[in-house]
Amino acid sequence: MIASAILTLALLHLLVWLNQRRQWAHLFFSIAAIAVAVIAGMEFMGMRAASIEQMSTLLRWCHLPFLVIWVAIAFFVRFHFGTGRLWLAWTVCGLRTLALILSFTTGQNLFFREITRLKHVAIFGGETISIPQGVLNPWYVIGPLSTLALIVFVVDASVTHYRRGTDTGRRAFIISGSITLFLLASVAHAALVNTGMINSPYLASLSFMPIIIAMSYELSYDVLRSAQLAQRLQASEAGLRTSEQRMDLAMSAAELALWEWDIVHDEIWSTDKGRTLFGIARTERISFNLFLNSLYAEDREPVRLAVDKSLAGGGDYEGEYRVVLPDEQIRWFATRSHIEFNKLGLPLRMYGVSIDISRRKQAEVDAQKQRYELAHLSRVTMLGELSGALAHQLNQPLAAILSNAQAALRFLAPDAEALNEVRNILEDIVADDKRASDVIQRLRLLLRKDEVQSQPVDVNKVVRKVLKLVHGDLANRNMVANIDLAAQLPAIIGDRVLLQQVLLNLIMNGCEAAAHVEAVEHRQLYIHTLWNGDAVQVSVCDRGRGIAIDDMEHIFEPFFTTKPKGMGLGLSICRTIINAHNGQLWAVNNADCGASFYFTLPSYQGESA
Ligand code: ADP
Repeated sequence: MIASAILTLALLHLLVWLNQRRQWAHLFFSIAAIAVAVIAGMEFMGMRAASIEQMSTLLRWCHLPFLVIWVAIAFFVRFHFGTGRLWLAWTVCGLRTLALILSFTTGQNLFFREITRLKHVAIFGGETISIPQGVLNPWYVIGPLSTLALIVFVVDASVTHYRRGTDTGRRAFIISGSITLFLLASVAHAALVNTGMINSPYLASLSFMPIIIAMSYELSYDVLRSAQLAQRLQASEAGLRTSEQRMDLAMSAAELALWEWDIVHDEIWSTDKGRTLFGIARTERISFNLFLNSLYAEDREPVRLAVDKSLAGGGDYEGEYRVVLPDEQIRWFATRSHIEFNKLGLPLRMYGVSIDISRRKQAEVDAQKQRYELAHLSRVTMLGELSGALAHQLNQPLAAILSNAQAALRFLAPDAEALNEVRNILEDIVADDKRASDVIQRLRLLLRKDEVQSQPVDVNKVVRKVLKLVHGDLANRNMVANIDLAAQLPAIIGDRVLLQQVLLNLIMNGCEAAAHVEAVEHRQLYIHTLWNGDAVQVSVCDRGRGIAIDDMEHIFEPFFTTKPKGMGLGLSICRTIINAHNGQLWAVNNADCGASFYFTLPSYQGESA
């Protein structure tokens, strides 16, 4: 019964050891238990020994399992407590080996020099057992000595273990207490049997059983505890995962990237969100250069310099930069980071957070644009006021010129022949003067109320009139105007004077664009009218230097000019006039050279021109 119970325990712990090979205590426990089971078997055979020879052989050989038990217990304790003096353990092994050798070399066995007879004793249940009697072997003391060494070793190991304070001492007490108590009991009992003082079979296995149970209890406690630990670890791992998930969620919501740069190995770790924000694949290895290359070209050098400064001990790095994503999209990031240095002051690690601030940046750009537009608006308002003031101030002198010129004409009337030339000039002055005041009046009306006079206008006539007006200018500038006017052009509704002004502006701009061009074939203007099915379209093409791409969207804005003495108002006023006529004004660069300005005017559906 003892053997089977102990073998079951041995098997269990052997299985544990097979699964966890580093748990040597389980292996030594199993070896000790198996040896105890062997002892139990031998004791059983001893009880039934029929001859002295049989009994003597058993008593000789039983020292082999004893050796195994002693060695196994010593190493069990050493591995279980992780302590114990090795020399003491080897002393135990030595003494026990000596006992085994002496058992074969002195007398019949280590207990008896000679067994003289077998005593048959009746025990309960009517069974009779054999007990040896004879002359004791003096070398017998080696056995108890080895037991004493083992007890010293175990107690010493337990005390050291207890002093380490890794647990309450309960374990040390259970192991060392049971080993000491029951080993002493087994030695004492064997001595009593051998000396014939008691009539009992050998019962060493019975004494070893509590030791084996205590050892097994301790080991099982360990197994149980590691299972509990694993469970707790699992629970805390799950907790960790949950908090990691929460953190991920928060970082995603905040568009936040968490990263760490191992400076020594030049490797950057980043959260998945960070990789997504920076447009870097999950598996791609990130180095500092890869990060720099992902930046907007203009931001690379400043970021590199700022990081270098921080690495050289210039404090934590903080900055804003743009990242170009694989789909060419640009994102703004703000970064804050901290650098860890080793004892020699060399940078080891840099870690920090980067947050996507594209939306804020866009808002800033929008606000800037709005401020700019607002400034423009106030200048445009100012323009209205300015034109009002101009009209007011100019009207009076213009009126004076007019009355003077008219008076001169009246004086000149009788002597028509001689002074024809002077009359022509004065008539021109009158016409110009009237036109000037017309222009001022109507511009003022338009700018103030955004409305134009509505009369049917023949656009071809407007073109001819303007060319007549600028004839002198063109000649002075050495410019040639080529016109191509549509034969059947419907009339449009609008203000003749303002439309003349638009054309005048466009022609003068064309002349100015060609001002620096020497080649005669480039000093040409082409004015073209046509009916496009919906509206009358007028174009003014020059062969000048054309419009710079970047300027294209600004040329119609008030106060935009590229000319040293320009006011930048001409095109803006032209557009205001054309818009007031429900038409459109735009510009394109010609394929070869120069620019073309086009405007359309919806036709007047009634009378044809
Ligand atoms: P300004 O003539 O006082 O500069 P405008 O509003 O008439 O003001 O013109 C604005 C700008 O548009 C000019 O400064 C010039 O850069 C550009 N521009 C206008 N017309 C032409 C043209 N025909 N060719 C090239 N650039 C032109």
